[in-house]
Amino acid sequence: MFNGKLLQLQQSLKSLPGIGEKTAQRLALYILSQNKEKSYQLADSIKDAVDSYTQCSICNMLSESDPCFLCSNTARDSSLLCIVEQTRDIYNIESTQEFHGYYFVLGKLLSPVDGIGPKQLNLDKLERLVQEKCFNEVIFAISPSTEGESTIHFIAEYLKNTNVCLTRLSTGIPYGSNMEYTGTVTLMNALKRRFPI
Ligand SMILES: [Zn+2]
Repeated sequence: MFNGKLLQLQQSLKSLPGIGEKTAQRLALYILSQNKEKSYQLADSIKDAVDSYTQCSICNMLSESDPCFLCSNTARDSSLLCIVEQTRDIYNIESTQEFHGYYFVLGKLLSPVDGIGPKQLNLDKLERLVQEKCFNEVIFAISPSTEGESTIHFIAEYLKNTNVCLTRLSTGIPYGSNMEYTGTVTLMNALKRRFPI
């Protein structure tokens, strides 16, 4: 239905997670019909954030500084490392105030059908981090799904020789669910009750 610049805007919006065809149309028209200053502000804040954020060279978290504010906080518990899939999982876990260690962001889960193999997970970096920082425990806080399970088991095997204690979150997070949508209390309980792999 749309064409030209409006179609271009709609398609850009549609590429965002959770935005379907209709919502993208509605948002595109809204952006064009509201006060121009507000739309420029939106565009500027997207550009500013994109330009200012980078991946932390230690943990891969998206951050304004490198190292990120978590890696550079020496008051955190240096015995614990938590492996997560995405930066958003860190914010989710931090909101429980139950975990005070450090993090490592994988960025992806193993998924051979999508062409994501062990090489894409940057496990050398993880292994170096585990060895250098001498963590006592590495906790897997990964969504329980087929990809999540195979990723956990692959990494556990990969880190076997580091002799670090490997644990995962307790049950309570339903299989196939996404960590992003797990309630704070459920996640808090799952963090408290971990079990060895
Ligand atoms: Zn970091």
